[in-house]
Amino acid sequence: MTESSTNEQTGAGEGAGQPEFEKKLGLRPIEYRSGEQHPEQRPCPSWCGLAHDPARHGIDPRHPLSALHTPTWDLEVALSAYRGTLCAEGVLAASVEVSLEQVGQRAPRIRLIRYLNKESTVILTLGLTDAEELALALTYQVQLAEGRLL
Ligand SMILES: [Zn+2]
Repeated sequence: MTESSTNEQTGAGEGAGQPEFEKKLGLRPIEYRSGEQHPEQRPCPSWCGLAHDPARHGIDPRHPLSALHTPTWDLEVALSAYRGTLCAEGVLAASVEVSLEQVGQRAPRIRLIRYLNKESTVILTLGLTDAEELALALTYQVQLAEGRLL
């Protein structure tokens, strides 16, 4: 079968390139260039820092067709039991970053990120129920240690 007879059967027409034919069929493109509008067209969750301008989401190769929604700020919690590190401005306390993220329409996740050094990072990914139970257990242990529980 020649290319022209294939095109006649599929409706691609003379000279139509494959990407144009796929677009005509309603297929999504497979190539996305940096700076282009994100292919995710569904609205952001209300807490997303880009909810006012969802086209600015970067295209992540791990999930290129789904936007990564994050709030404007992550939270950093200082860890007093660990050594700090010297930095250009002074000393940086050890910390754990607490962040919220959601890929497309999947369930939101809480991530706890501890940067040990340039080569090593520990990440815990929690569902919302996991995070609530962890917060409850931490609060319970703190209150127990401080004698605030009856
Ligand atoms: Zn978003």
